[in-house]
Amino acid sequence: MSAPGQTVASLVEAARAAGIGRLDAQVLLGHVLGRSRAWLIAHDDEPVELAAAAEMARLLQQRARGVPVAYLVGEREFHGLMLKVRPDVLVPRPETEGLVDWVMELFDPAVPARVADLGTGSGAIALALRHRRPRMQVTAVDIDPAALAVARDNAVRLRLTLECLQGRWFAPLAGRRFECIVSNPPYVDADDPHLQALDSEPLLALTPGPDGLAALREIIQAAPGHLEPGAWLLLEHGRDQAHAVRQMLVERGFADIATRTDLAGLPRCTGGRWPALPLP
Ligand code: GLN
Repeated sequence: MSAPGQTVASLVEAARAAGIGRLDAQVLLGHVLGRSRAWLIAHDDEPVELAAAAEMARLLQQRARGVPVAYLVGEREFHGLMLKVRPDVLVPRPETEGLVDWVMELFDPAVPARVADLGTGSGAIALALRHRRPRMQVTAVDIDPAALAVARDNAVRLRLTLECLQGRWFAPLAGRRFECIVSNPPYVDADDPHLQALDSEPLLALTPGPDGLAALREIIQAAPGHLEPGAWLLLEHGRDQAHAVRQMLVERGFADIATRTDLAGLPRCTGGRWPALPLP
């Protein structure tokens, strides 16, 4: 049965009136109806069944409470891959795609480089690398078994080979070295008011505690024990942390240190190279 007078257009409009953006409203309605956004746009006048309208209303309520669209529809696109996401993992963000691009620039597709992604969450970085550089041997690490299960599911579904290891940062990588280590660790200060807006996402993935640099510091300290001579360490960080991260890399003995900005022009990733020869 159609909801009286409800159409694709009227439901998107009602969502807009409730303060939900047009894109979000279309993604949610597309999910409910099992249709693409392109279909919705071409079928403004299509009547919507009562049950679908009710389901849409339920999702809009959750969205209005701040639940990310990605959790409501169970997926999010990242670097050309559609990833399943659950509240166990951070929603992959477009700024993190810059980290993937950086690794891709550093390694020729023909080289079977070994890469570790620390704190992989949904597996976004690791899987995007496997997808774009099929010869790379990618190891994904996460301390949270529930997050690692999401990464594993994504790998199986996308038919991408990924080594998934559970543990804290380098703990499951004893005795192993890589040509590149990449990480988007938790870096928001625990008392940063910005965290409140992210309260549907796993706190473990967002903040390392009162000192937002704690996880970055831990990774930088331990990384040289797992890098081949000349290998790279690339890290995502907060917009105001580039200077501190550069400083920590310098102090640890890294060379060729560089910072890259995200799509908003904010310093977002910093990396360096473990020297091929020990520093004097
Ligand atoms: N970029 C995220 C945010 O502040 C934080 C992700 C993280 O801590 N790694 O929205």
